[in-house]
Amino acid sequence: MRDVIIIGAGPVGLACGIEARRRDLDALIIEKGALVNSFMNYPTKLEFFSTPELLEIGGHPFSTNGYKPVREEAIDYYRRVALAEELETNLYETVTALRGADGRFEVQTDKGSYLCRKVVGATGFFDVPNRMHVPGEDLDKVTHYYREPYPYARQEVAVIGAANSAAKAALQCHRHGAHVTLLVRGPAISETVKYWIKPDLENRIEEGSIAAHFNASVEEITEEAISFAAPEGRQQIENDWVLAMTGYRPDYDLLGALGIDTRDDAARTPVHDPETFETNREGLYLAGTVCGGLNTSKWFIENGRHHARQIMEHIAARRTEGVEV
Ligand SMILES: Cc1cc2nc3c(=O)[nH]c(=O)nc-3n(C[C@H](O)[C@H](O)[C@H](O)COP(=O)(O)OP(=O)(O)OC[C@H]3O[C@@H](n4cnc5c(N)ncnc54)[C@H](O)[C@@H]3O)c2cc1C
Repeated sequence: MRDVIIIGAGPVGLACGIEARRRDLDALIIEKGALVNSFMNYPTKLEFFSTPELLEIGGHPFSTNGYKPVREEAIDYYRRVALAEELETNLYETVTALRGADGRFEVQTDKGSYLCRKVVGATGFFDVPNRMHVPGEDLDKVTHYYREPYPYARQEVAVIGAANSAAKAALQCHRHGAHVTLLVRGPAISETVKYWIKPDLENRIEEGSIAAHFNASVEEITEEAISFAAPEGRQQIENDWVLAMTGYRPDYDLLGALGIDTRDDAARTPVHDPETFETNREGLYLAGTVCGGLNTSKWFIENGRHHARQIMEHIAARRTEGVEV
């Protein structure tokens, strides 16, 4: 039987693996995709907003060519750390359910089941896009994951959203020859857009090189067009591609399958102790961005990586108190 099984090999899941090992806890990380799987869906050469030292785990130095790391450097960094720390990872294996109780859990996956004493869910929020619930949303021309601008040169592209991902996608596509229309549900570009990106986008809108509609809600997408309601009335514009940068949410079905309750607050926060990160199900912890529920900007790598130490200290302390771990 394992001491602990960690679900998810994102930066925080890996940090949990390191902190477990340092306390002589026998840990296995089960990951449904690749190492740092969320990064596979980031835009190519995405530049992190954090400087490298704030993304470090286990005290391993992260040196980068530029002031801030790009996606590819981060993927490489976390892979090297996982290797150096000899973290045990089962990749391309999905956790589906959790049976048993504290001290003797059985983690069910799509490939088998594993016994363990404690479980940590570090499952992030990047797998489930916020849907618009409009006709045409499932057409091939619609994506919730923007990768790079090159496919969109000389194309009519609608970018939906007003936060960082939408702002970056709109600017990049515009600069690589797309005709961009930005559709924003609220009255303005989000205040959360990074201070070096926001004025750039606002100036492009003001000069008319990026079209923008505010207080606009998408109503329908077809192969040839996109329709939306705006204060000016219902509008339909020609359209080849839709980049729906509408945000993401934790996988609440999975949280339910793990037996984790959700608070009745606006963020639908998964129930957990703010000090120990133990959930309502004893012996089951949450770590990283998943802890914020729908508030996906509450936790990120910079602050979420520290959950690992808090959780493993709690587990190790219970062992020294004589509770079997
Ligand atoms: C584009 C972008 C840029 C960002 N830039 C920064 C930045 O500069 N600085 C910063 O601090 N934060 C940044 N963040 C925010 C956040 O820190 C990252 O999202 C980070 O990946 C969160 O780490 P995590 O380990 O909590 O979750 P994730 O990295 O999302 O890891 C969760 C893992 O769990 C796996 N998983 C999910 N369900 C299952 C299952 N059922 N079974 C097995 N495995 C499962 C997933 O495949 C995934 O690998 C950024 C986010 C985005 C989207």
